[in-house]
Amino acid sequence: MPQEELARLQEERLRHTISQALKTPFYRQRFAQLKVDPGKIKTVKDLQRLPFTTKEDLRQGFPFDFLAVPLEEVVRLHSSSGTTGTPTVIYHTAQDLERWTNQVARCLYMVGVRKTDIFQNMMSYGLFTGGLGMHYGAERLGAMTIPIGTGNSKRQIWFLQFFKTTVVHILPSYALLLAQLIKSEGLDPKRDLNLHIMLIGAEPHSEETRKRIEEAFGAKAYNSYGLSEMNGPGVAFECPYQNGMHLWEDYYILEVVDPKTGEPCREGEVGEIVLTTIYRDATPILRYRTRDLASFTAEPCPCGRTHRRISRIQGRSDDMFIFRGVNIFPIQIEKVLMNIPEVGNNYRIVLAREDYRDIMRIEVEIKSELFFGDLQKLERLQERIQAELRSEILVTPEVILVEPGTLPTQEGKAQRVFDHRQM
Ligand code: AMP
Ligand code: ZN
Repeated sequence: MPQEELARLQEERLRHTISQALKTPFYRQRFAQLKVDPGKIKTVKDLQRLPFTTKEDLRQGFPFDFLAVPLEEVVRLHSSSGTTGTPTVIYHTAQDLERWTNQVARCLYMVGVRKTDIFQNMMSYGLFTGGLGMHYGAERLGAMTIPIGTGNSKRQIWFLQFFKTTVVHILPSYALLLAQLIKSEGLDPKRDLNLHIMLIGAEPHSEETRKRIEEAFGAKAYNSYGLSEMNGPGVAFECPYQNGMHLWEDYYILEVVDPKTGEPCREGEVGEIVLTTIYRDATPILRYRTRDLASFTAEPCPCGRTHRRISRIQGRSDDMFIFRGVNIFPIQIEKVLMNIPEVGNNYRIVLAREDYRDIMRIEVEIKSELFFGDLQKLERLQERIQAELRSEILVTPEVILVEPGTLPTQEGKAQRVFDHRQM
């Protein structure tokens, strides 16, 4: 669709979205406070007069303040990965799911997935959107879809071999590890498998990581961007030219803004991605601050698609990090640690990649009388800290207890997270 026509479609859908938003307690109240006439929000420019919606807003609106349809119209809910207190939930009507399915199917078709493919979905099924979201898109195309989920590498490898899987959906960090495990079984991921397309996403990764994955498997790896608040996978996706991700502008209004001022960025300038849903009824969200940093380009793509492209995600404007596909905020770790009386005042979170495996090591200073005390007590303390962290962040970190005063301190803002994983 020519860009002008796409813009007209966006405005038509925006108007419908505003009318949906007015059915939610959150936006009704917000419009009343702002004294803005919602009927006047017709164009993307008008939209920019509205304030952003944040993750905090979604949390405070739990459970139903963002719901625009009667609950009986809702057929599913999803939530983001990780566990920061109150979850943010997104509701879908049957039609919302139908549209999302087509959105994902469009992405997969774009990179060459067809009904003859065997699709192994190695993402977690459940509240996280990467499992079911991709699953239905692949089924829509008629590919034989294997809902294998995450983990159990031996079984993954067996399925890859036995069914001659041609397409996988996989975390980039896991793809590198899996290649290694396949080799350690005496197999060659290139020669002994039949993979030709890999969809990689859900966590930041670099062009170098992509190249390594492609070389290891002898397949094409396409970057897939999404977030649960905006459905999940399928928000933006690379085309065969691998030159940025087409952001589907018939589903969202894209803005890239300066994270400090909120002002629009110019083409090519890195800023925060802000998205408005325009093709969804149950949970309309206006100007959602994703906190993901990227730039956009409106340059025509050789593939012919007119949807603008965003760059690879360059980082976050908050301190969230993603570990093995799970979103984690350092404050979650801090809360657990500071609740344990034996723990001192300083700690740090070290992320590293060792033997293709991502590890999280939490170094914790403990009070000095304990440090030089009973060894068994120390071991029990360490295990307790580990278990409490696990129940908060859902992954098990390594915990190292250190003597007080041994971790580096900074004047000014403390740096807690040291990420040595090469993206
Ligand atoms: P969730 O809501 O749990 O699906 O997490 C969404 C977040 O994962 C996004 O806001 C990004 O920070 C991150 N993410 C998803 N896909 C990508 C990708 N292709 N590259 C970088 N980060 C990604
Ligand atoms: Zn393209």
